[in-house]
Amino acid sequence: MVKNSIKIDFSQSIGDPMVEIGRLGLIEFCKKEKFENIEELKIYIEKLFNIYTFRTSGRIGQVFSSNSKFTHNSTGKDLNERLRQALEQYNSLIKEFCNGYCITCGKRNNLCSVSKTIFPLTTGNSNTNFTSNFSNRFLMCKVCMSSLFFAPINMQKIAGRMGFMISNNPEINEFWTRENIYQFNANIVKGVDSLVDSKTNVFENFIYGVIEELQEEKLFGDITFYLISNVDKGSEITLVHIVENQMRFLHRVAPKFFKDELPTKQKDEWNYLIYKYSAKDSSGKFRIRKESIDGKSKTIKFKEEIIDNKNYKSTIKYFNPLISSFIQGKSILGFFKRNRCSWNLTKIYLKEIKGMRKERVNVLKKVADNLQLFNEDDATFYKKIIRPIEMTKSQTEFRENLRILMRKFMSKSDKPLFTVDEMVVYILPSGESWYETKDILLIALYEKMNLKEIEKIDEGEDENE
Ligand SMILES: [Zn+2]
Repeated sequence: MVKNSIKIDFSQSIGDPMVEIGRLGLIEFCKKEKFENIEELKIYIEKLFNIYTFRTSGRIGQVFSSNSKFTHNSTGKDLNERLRQALEQYNSLIKEFCNGYCITCGKRNNLCSVSKTIFPLTTGNSNTNFTSNFSNRFLMCKVCMSSLFFAPINMQKIAGRMGFMISNNPEINEFWTRENIYQFNANIVKGVDSLVDSKTNVFENFIYGVIEELQEEKLFGDITFYLISNVDKGSEITLVHIVENQMRFLHRVAPKFFKDELPTKQKDEWNYLIYKYSAKDSSGKFRIRKESIDGKSKTIKFKEEIIDNKNYKSTIKYFNPLISSFIQGKSILGFFKRNRCSWNLTKIYLKEIKGMRKERVNVLKKVADNLQLFNEDDATFYKKIIRPIEMTKSQTEFRENLRILMRKFMSKSDKPLFTVDEMVVYILPSGESWYETKDILLIALYEKMNLKEIEKIDEGEDENE
């Protein structure tokens, strides 16, 4: 049997995220997933290794360890020799035929024995699902081994590290890969740093941006985002898991990211909130940027930067507490409460993200509506009804408060504020957070009030510049 005539097939997906992202990158880079023989595959390997050697990235030292063929000191002054050695190493691996099982895909025999230092981004050891956790010498099949070399071109530079994502929806993975390889090739033509740059320094903002793009394409699914590096202290891997519901939520509340005009609370509530939390720095001041034009220093306000330059991306340049909480799957009801958000936005959030039962949402809204019986003027209503709810510090206190309201209500109405059943099953069901219940009730109550009155009682949260 002539061993070089063995077909090489990259069409099967592989569990290891690094191998998988490399496999997808390879398919897109080569525009094919099956190769007649090793010689055919080697044409693309040479092309890639050529780029790594001659059109290299400033990031290459962060991508490959200093022991790899692409970064080793001994060939720093002779790049032709560097390329020759890299290809020689690949060729010798291809010629090995060890028996055993591939460490990442489990395939039997026809394996090569490799050291992790030859591959990109594998020197960390903090996650057992990664090749990075493997011992120094291991067996790997030719498909997985070849795939790994393509991993960096299917990643983006983010926050000084390399980031990528894998979704359970293959169309999302294709979208991600297509964009990256397109950009990678474009970078090479332009003669700039070949590795794709997200131009984002905040991981959560990067993820948010990707979700925005995907929902515009009507692509939905669960996605795990990875942030990885070779040279970080401890080479930690940061993982963020996004569920499909988060994408569906954004699709409903932020159908288009704003480009030409600032979003307003009335017209585009969610984007307005995103803008609002990007517009201020950590000390609560509106961001400004100094720019020198014809020797004169000019102050550019954040708002101008967004509108005049149609530079939407500026909003996700900075740390944004709302984006951060949303991406990390933390509750954002507190943001809704502080910003006196509409019941409509809250309802969508409760349903799409919190998975709250419709009945529960409806009962809480009904209680807020019923309480309007006491609302003759907003100031008194706030003082007598809302403030005591805001002040509750424990579940017991909250329950007690509801009982007091119930008694008051019964003196004015022949119907109860809520039934015993509603209290037990929907208002404070065991296992649910009383604090969130309180926030939801407050959001529903605030909405009924005149906005002016609310702003007066607002604790220093200004709505507009
Ligand atoms: Zn394998």
